[in-house]
Amino acid sequence: MLFVLTNEKFDEKRHKADFLESCLNRNGAGAYSYFEGRVRNSNEGRAVKALEYEAYSELAEKEGTEIVRESIAKFDLVSAICIHRAGYLELGEISVWIAAAAPHRSESFAACRYIIDELKKRVPIWKREHYVDSDPEWVNCANRNHRELSESEYYSRQFVLPSFGILGQNKLKAAKVLVIGAGGLGSPALLYLAGAGCGQVDACDFDSVELSNLHRQIIYTTENLEAPKASLASARIRQQNPFINSKSFSLPNNAKDTQVLFKEYDVILDCTDNMDTKLFISDCAIAANVALISASVRKFEAQLHIWMPALENSKPGGQCLRCLWNEKDTLAAQSCVDAGILGAVTGILGSMQALEAIKYLVGIPSPLANHICLVDLLSLQLTQIATTHNEHCPVCNIGSSSLAEAKT
Ligand SMILES: [Zn+2]
Repeated sequence: MLFVLTNEKFDEKRHKADFLESCLNRNGAGAYSYFEGRVRNSNEGRAVKALEYEAYSELAEKEGTEIVRESIAKFDLVSAICIHRAGYLELGEISVWIAAAAPHRSESFAACRYIIDELKKRVPIWKREHYVDSDPEWVNCANRNHRELSESEYYSRQFVLPSFGILGQNKLKAAKVLVIGAGGLGSPALLYLAGAGCGQVDACDFDSVELSNLHRQIIYTTENLEAPKASLASARIRQQNPFINSKSFSLPNNAKDTQVLFKEYDVILDCTDNMDTKLFISDCAIAANVALISASVRKFEAQLHIWMPALENSKPGGQCLRCLWNEKDTLAAQSCVDAGILGAVTGILGSMQALEAIKYLVGIPSPLANHICLVDLLSLQLTQIATTHNEHCPVCNIGSSSLAEAKT
């Protein structure tokens, strides 16, 4: 056992003896270090009378085991273990106990430190202090005073995904996303980004809800007719996930203010349906160096395009929308009103935009970097085309550098 989460009181004599015995017969163990965390009797001047731990045990055990396993590999340990308490603890009780055996003392010290530091960052165990003269409070845990709903339970099904876990969830929680267009694409995008737990999901739209919108704009109901979309959408996703923030507004009508706005976000989703606005958003995102995920739909066909920002000492990841299209191009220029659209088509593309945003924010690589994805929902074909840098693009021209060769 590398990591144990238990409601039972820590038995100092037994646990220490067990650990030593497990190491004594192994070659090369020359040093042992223990770390003990105990329930303190005061915190920031307030007298504490007890401590309580609540854990999302399935993930805590998985992540805790992984941390101890990492420490063994990282510090070349002979053996290591972490025992963490859950439930109600009295003053002075051991709350967490870590032991590491190594050939030399420095590795055993460093391993104990590594394990406790990583536990605090990655393992979903929350601490509530009970005070002598006031109500109990969750310590260092945003939203933990609001106990009617459990954040860990809310995200429990995505926590367990590979490459996700508590680290991925924390990255989403810290992220700010702007969704421009709260219509057919924006509705599913907003709902899924909010459901996934992006900390700030803002909605941008100047329009009001019409009856002919409802077959595809699933964030609204007939009760919302003629009301402004952005504020409705924002309120709806705050209701859907009380652990996120959302505000609504209209897009500024000049490039300078839009660029300033974009710089506040980690990623922009272009869910609009006309080419002029798409090119304007693309130009501003590139000027602000913010990731942009853009989708266009027409009948049963669609395109998904991602522009990655330039990181330090690197070129931007791919070409911009204006490298590919100009105002004369018609794929996205013809709106749903003229061309006709099924709600399920915008639903799929809006969901793909949300998924690409989540992957980008969590750090899961996307094959769409430097590619455009053509989606044909009649034949169910997805085609990725490597994008070629357009040397004549007035927005993102970076000289003779070729970002990719065109290929299908
Ligand atoms: Zn360009």
